[in-house]
Amino acid sequence: MAPAYQHRCIVCGQPAQYGIAICGQFICRFCEHEMVATDPSDRRYPFFVRQMRQITTAFR
Ligand SMILES: [Zn+2]
Repeated sequence: MAPAYQHRCIVCGQPAQYGIAICGQFICRFCEHEMVATDPSDRRYPFFVRQMRQITTAFR
């Protein structure tokens, strides 16, 4: 039986127990840390921005 607190991260797509929820969407602790630590000049940054945009479009 899957625990109720098990979420699926919208960034990496992996199920995770700990993380943050934004607008009902879940981001695991690892991805949260990655996003915070990623500099806007990093080439991974557009990926995170795109994933975050999924959250806002889901609530339009
Ligand atoms: Zn993640």
